[in-house]
Amino acid sequence: MALLRKIKIISLFFILINSIPVSAQMMSAESVLEEAAEAMGGIDRIRNIDTLMMTGFSQTLNQDGGSGPSSHPKAPLKLAVQNGVERYFDLNNLRAYQTHRQGFLFPFALAFGHAWAPSSQIQEGVNALNHPVAALRAAFEESAQLGSVSIEDDNIVVQFTLADNTVLWLGINQLNKLPAWVRWMGPHANLGQVTYTSWFTGYLPFDGIRLPSGFTTEIDWRENVVAVFHVDSYEIDVALPEFVASGGGFGGGGNSGVAVTEVADGVWDLRVGTNGGAVVEFEDHLLMFEAYGNEANSLARIDRANTLVPGKEVTQVILSHHHFDHSGGIRAAISRGLTIITKRENEGMLREMASRPAPNFPDALARNPQPLDFMPVDEHLVLEDATRRVDVYEVVGHMHMTDAVFAYIPEERILMQGDMFDIGWDWHWWGGNYLDSVEHFDLEPEIDIPVHGRVSTLQEVVSNIESQVAAARDFCARDLAVGVYMAGCPVKYSRD
Ligand SMILES: [Zn+2]
Repeated sequence: MALLRKIKIISLFFILINSIPVSAQMMSAESVLEEAAEAMGGIDRIRNIDTLMMTGFSQTLNQDGGSGPSSHPKAPLKLAVQNGVERYFDLNNLRAYQTHRQGFLFPFALAFGHAWAPSSQIQEGVNALNHPVAALRAAFEESAQLGSVSIEDDNIVVQFTLADNTVLWLGINQLNKLPAWVRWMGPHANLGQVTYTSWFTGYLPFDGIRLPSGFTTEIDWRENVVAVFHVDSYEIDVALPEFVASGGGFGGGGNSGVAVTEVADGVWDLRVGTNGGAVVEFEDHLLMFEAYGNEANSLARIDRANTLVPGKEVTQVILSHHHFDHSGGIRAAISRGLTIITKRENEGMLREMASRPAPNFPDALARNPQPLDFMPVDEHLVLEDATRRVDVYEVVGHMHMTDAVFAYIPEERILMQGDMFDIGWDWHWWGGNYLDSVEHFDLEPEIDIPVHGRVSTLQEVVSNIESQVAAARDFCARDLAVGVYMAGCPVKYSRD
């Protein structure tokens, strides 16, 4: 008995010793990384792998969580799905390549969003390093600078800097010594900059090396999980395909100049590519509808607008709704001191966007910090002076965007809107919202100036909505016939 008790006490002693966190100062970055390599199968095994391929399926958070129906932090979010994923790592060049078929788990207005068409991405720089083998290989590069060692929760954290000055952090689990996560930062149009942490879970042995079977990536905004990846299989030293990017997206985001069209006296349409919106002249200033896309496109529209009328500048921007493509230029607009006019419910998200620093990737707002100047809209806000009246109204009946506004110039009968209607859409899942909103506020528009597409007549708007609703219903019927049932089906249309 005495011996058994002694063994138990000794065992307990060793368990305690082993579970006491070691202090970070005791460890060199190199020794921590070497221990991690050892735990995975040895530094030689890691160095000897040329290529790695993993298959599986993933889900990604649409617009990093910036595309929910409402901007509320607890609003339901929208997911995209990638099936049939093959992700290849070229470990000698630290590049990666992914092919998959993608679909959206929410009703999307463009057919590519539900087509499950193959697409492929080339992942370079830090985007190729969110795998423990790739991250360790990057840290062991001759040109990498190993930095400080610290402790975070259960993990020893090693900072390292790549030859191009990219900084990463690798978290190593203190107990099993396996890499627990890798962290890096990137620029973000809406949030200034974002810190990403990819967690590695469920390690299993494959051909002499332990590899994770699960990946979860979160960002430092609302603790949103922006990607999860379920591994189905690993293959080591496979032949690499040619890395060719293709398919699946909104097309290029380049700034191709601002096209200006005068729609009425003192009302212009300013567009970069197919996206933009109205600029409206008041007695002593200009009002712009939407700061769409990104900083470059929004500043280009603002700068062009400021040349339209001598002595008058854009001082106010209407934000139709918070979705991250529509609010991509909001930080730029704030940097110019513009007043942001939108639904009152969006104030919280706007304050989050406006207050985030971006020291590593300084955008216009980081270079010229300005406080948010916010003008809330409830049901109806009138902007009026001696020369002009613009009414701003809440959008009704639109489940795509429940904290949305549109604007109306009663004198010229011009309606300005984002996502209530887009002549380029294949399908309209919420077709009733346009005329429901018009009738709710007893308006009589003749001309539509949209964020997406082109200036249209009301007749064009109404007939295109009818055909887009019919096309969405055809899509649901085709899917149903083959046993598939998508979100958004059956299509509800209040004007049947
Ligand atoms: Zn849109």
